[in-house]
Amino acid sequence: MDGAMTDEEGKPIWGAGCGVFGVFAPGEDVARITFFGLFALQHRGEESAGIATTDGERLLLRRGMGLVMQAFNEDDLSRLKGFAAIGHNRYSTTGSTSPRNAQPFVFAGPRGELAIAHNGNLVNALHLRAELEAQGVEFETTSDTEVIAKLILHSPAPTFEEAIAEMMEKVRGAYSLTILTHDKLIAVRDPWGIRPLCLGVLNGEHWVVASESCAFEPIGAKFVREIEPGEVVVVDADGMRRFKPVESKRCATCIFEFIYFARPDSLIFGKRVFEVRRRMGHILAQEHPAEADIVVPVPDTGISAALGYAEAAGIACVEAIIKSRYSGRTFIQPDQRMRELGVKMKLTPLKEVLAGKRVVLVDDSIVRGTTTGQKVRMLFEAGAKEVHVRISSPPYRYPCFYGIDTPNRGELIAARMSVEEIRDFLGATSLGYLSIDGLVRATGIPKGKFCLACFNNRYPIPIPRDVRLHKLALEERAHTR
Ligand code: 5GP
Ligand code: SF4
Ligand code: MG
Repeated sequence: MDGAMTDEEGKPIWGAGCGVFGVFAPGEDVARITFFGLFALQHRGEESAGIATTDGERLLLRRGMGLVMQAFNEDDLSRLKGFAAIGHNRYSTTGSTSPRNAQPFVFAGPRGELAIAHNGNLVNALHLRAELEAQGVEFETTSDTEVIAKLILHSPAPTFEEAIAEMMEKVRGAYSLTILTHDKLIAVRDPWGIRPLCLGVLNGEHWVVASESCAFEPIGAKFVREIEPGEVVVVDADGMRRFKPVESKRCATCIFEFIYFARPDSLIFGKRVFEVRRRMGHILAQEHPAEADIVVPVPDTGISAALGYAEAAGIACVEAIIKSRYSGRTFIQPDQRMRELGVKMKLTPLKEVLAGKRVVLVDDSIVRGTTTGQKVRMLFEAGAKEVHVRISSPPYRYPCFYGIDTPNRGELIAARMSVEEIRDFLGATSLGYLSIDGLVRATGIPKGKFCLACFNNRYPIPIPRDVRLHKLALEERAHTR
């Protein structure tokens, strides 16, 4: 694995998908609108950010490492002129962490020029890339996103729309895309609807597209609807058109969007993520009650479920772990002594609140178990008498191939250990996970609409053997050249 594929603690990044955005608004400052849209989608990717605009003659591009606020300054935004824009927040999936891999990408081909921003991950990218290379198409990056772009740019189809339809016939995997040409904004969602993608309207007249609906309110736009699985939305000077070039045989939206990735104020399947997480907490309290004095959330992503747990259990929910408000990913490496402090760099326990208490600690998920173990120890050190860990998702046993960079299967603690062994590893008084049925019930959506593969090993889009073996296959191939 590439050395750059690790975070500041030296752990491989398992990612939070990515955020994509797009706006078509002649007369408006589209770069600035995109900047604030990306700012609202920051939680979907903290590694790099980029904005591309079109002025009708050329595509302008600006990308930078880190948070949206770090990646752009006033000068960058004022240089990004145009009437339409797309943007991207990146969290590493395929391809390594470097400015070269920051999106949007701009590529040129026989069909002209396009900028593209992608949330998701293809499972047949290697195969398609080899086919294109055999036809003489050259590649500049190690990203599966370039495969999508090159399929469109090198397609013999007569129109851009037909080229996109052809691309959708060929690619397998997760892709929520925003694409910009000299005169069009295009949004595409894969036929499985794995990653979210929403349509909104700005000032009642301009179309905007975003990974999550939470990006609309801060820019003064209104949520219109979700883009459907398999749908393509095209916006240009003639207005908005939509078509569905491929049939969606099976909707398989990532249920982890509800558990962890999406922001609580977003809507998915018309449900407020906060309300769903709160219900997960209610059901978790029914499935795994605990004799305790206080419920303590792990900030931020454990908060909604902890509130629900406390409501259902009739126990007070107390903010006994304080998170630094500025603890996003940083590119300054902590030194060895600070590294050993682990979660203490981000989280501080309130000793007076915790001393002598029986605590229910609620979090959304356990991946490797290392930070959860540190949190349990932190609470005991602060004086807690008992720590009952409650997780608002089922045991995470199988890796994701659809845009979440999960570690190898062997690193997933629930793939190697029973619940009792995990409890012992964490040093917790007790441990309870939400059941798969409880999780689905909390969403209020039929089970068949979701991907649940990381819990039940049923992958809605078959994973080719070579991809199963090499999650970073594109990367490795590039290195051996
Ligand atoms: P662990 O105990 O496995 O080391 O860490 C679990 C914590 O990591 C949880 O608080 C969870 O919210 C957080 N986390 C950070 N990034 C991710 C991610 O991409 N996926 C999941 N499932 N959890 C993540
Ligand atoms: Fe989401 Fe898990 Fe399916 Fe990946 S495998 S898309 S994380 S539900
Ligand atoms: Mg968390």
